Amino acid sequence: MQFSELAEYFHKIESVSSRLEMMAILSEMLKKSGKDVKKTIYISQGILGPGHEALEAGIGEGLLEAGIAKASGYPKDEVKKLYKQLGDLGEVAQKLSKNKKQQSLFSEKLSVQKVFGNFVKMAATEGRGSQETKLGAFSELLNSASPLEAKYIARIPLGNMRLGVGDPTIMDALALNYVDEFTRSKKIRAQIESAMKEKKDEKRKEEFARKARQLLREKIEAKYNIHSDLGEIAERLAEKGLAGLEEISMKPGSPIRPTLAERLPSAEQIIEKLGKCIVEAKYDGFRVQVHKKGNDVAIYSRQSENVTHMFPDLVDAVRERVRAKDAIIEGEALAYNSVTQQPLPFQVTIQRKRKYNVEKMAEEFPLRLFVFDVMYLDGKNTMNLPFIERRKKLEGAISQNEKIALTDAIETNDPKKLEEFFLASIENGLEGIIAKDPAAPYIAGARKYAWIKLKRSYKGELNDSVDLAIIGYYKGRGKRTKFGLGGLLCAAYNEQEDSFQSITKIGTGMSEQILAELEEKLSATSEKEKPARVDSGLSPDIWVKPFYVIEVVADEITRSPTHTAGKTGGQGYALRFPRMIKFREKKPEEATTVAEIEQMYRNQKSVALEEKP
Ligand code: AMP
Repeated sequence: MQFSELAEYFHKIESVSSRLEMMAILSEMLKKSGKDVKKTIYISQGILGPGHEALEAGIGEGLLEAGIAKASGYPKDEVKKLYKQLGDLGEVAQKLSKNKKQQSLFSEKLSVQKVFGNFVKMAATEGRGSQETKLGAFSELLNSASPLEAKYIARIPLGNMRLGVGDPTIMDALALNYVDEFTRSKKIRAQIESAMKEKKDEKRKEEFARKARQLLREKIEAKYNIHSDLGEIAERLAEKGLAGLEEISMKPGSPIRPTLAERLPSAEQIIEKLGKCIVEAKYDGFRVQVHKKGNDVAIYSRQSENVTHMFPDLVDAVRERVRAKDAIIEGEALAYNSVTQQPLPFQVTIQRKRKYNVEKMAEEFPLRLFVFDVMYLDGKNTMNLPFIERRKKLEGAISQNEKIALTDAIETNDPKKLEEFFLASIENGLEGIIAKDPAAPYIAGARKYAWIKLKRSYKGELNDSVDLAIIGYYKGRGKRTKFGLGGLLCAAYNEQEDSFQSITKIGTGMSEQILAELEEKLSATSEKEKPARVDSGLSPDIWVKPFYVIEVVADEITRSPTHTAGKTGGQGYALRFPRMIKFREKKPEEATTVAEIEQMYRNQKSVALEEKP
């Protein structure tokens, strides 16, 4: 595929605001890209391989500016000035490429393969002279690029194409592309027919098509859940159709999408929901998925990035203490004071997430890994075993010491015992508890009451935090003008509609350091118009594409006509007195959902009623 065709598709995607239109363009783009489909998916997500392989072009903004200057003939200062004005290096590259001061002598038509290949080469270049090599490879691309191509080429190394295309939209587009093959199977047709309710003929056809797409979409997602590489999934589909999809299986080295936790407001309600359950302490560190294949150990973050190099102490612990040749296990890692046997504050733990000075920090703040699940053990997928059996397998597979241990847990069906364990956990400096359904399989990428968290007491207030996606910001006024940022507009995620619905404006609770960090991050994802998938009645000074997720606490959830989250009868949900706590390592689609907010609102009301004399 020519890169110019891909750039045209990106341009079309950027200019539509409805998700349906976006999906239709994407579906055509994927069909047209043929054997380049893997690369087109990666490029559209601003990555050079699946997230867990962590290939990075290693081109910072400075080098990008130099490359744009070199290819266009403008001085670097001018590039910088224009960047300040436009806030997007893609647009800078586009504009200057239009008004090039010099024409290149050797220009060739760019293919997707060539562009992708050049970036992969840049990623592989290290050491002395690497900056010049990268600059050369990057400006070579810009030399041959049309202005529109230049815009997207410049965005690739920034890791954000600003298309607003999330994984769900890509999966929808794939389902659309293979649904004909899917419904050629008699068995599948019968399965769909039996699930149909519509009696009228003219509507049955529509319902059949919708159900077929939905079923195939679920199948694609189930594969994505155990193999988080949409590029490869699309490639297998392109090569062998649905038979290619079937071939995808779980293996160490390919991260599994993490289970998510539901929440309930009290021990009673948890026991009512689960009956006898396994109650585990909830540790506040970072979640890691550990893959062991013989002596090779890889560690993946909650976002499926490969973070192995950050945690040499964990790698050693797993090599020494996991008694299985191959395994995929999951746990929470945190800095721990082995004298007091208490966790260190989250602010200390988070310092271990770094690229440099890794060894020194590992010595200073050693981590302890609290393991809570196993998905693969010696060649067998254990995801579908009941949790109680998975936990037994874990007990057998791990020889515990101060570096690696199983989570503290009790088994009970008594709300009082659960409450006691919860209070003891809080006293020990932990966040609360997670109650787990002993019969549930590992539910990759979703929440289905297999895990229920309880973090402190609700008592009619919203003491639990929510995770919200930032969709816009307001410019600073008064004391805050020096930061250019005065407040945030935040959204919850509506899973049914795959949209981000506004729920609160946040103006306080941010330190100067956080304000400065926010401004730097948000100005790089700003948009001129309301981004696709964003649903908001309020217009902030600057829109941003949902990308960053922050943890927020508030006093209460209220109903309000201002916000769109869960809006019915003119009233949506809003947060009262919201405060930002910290950045979360979550994708925007992993923000608190509107359904959860509704549930929290109901819980809050019922607790408040119970407390009335
Ligand atoms: P939250 O991020 O608040 O939705 O809570 C779920 C997170 O708690 C998981 O993603 C883990 O990172 C973390 N966690 C801490 N302790 C446990 C545990 N015992 N079992 C499962 N998750 C845990």
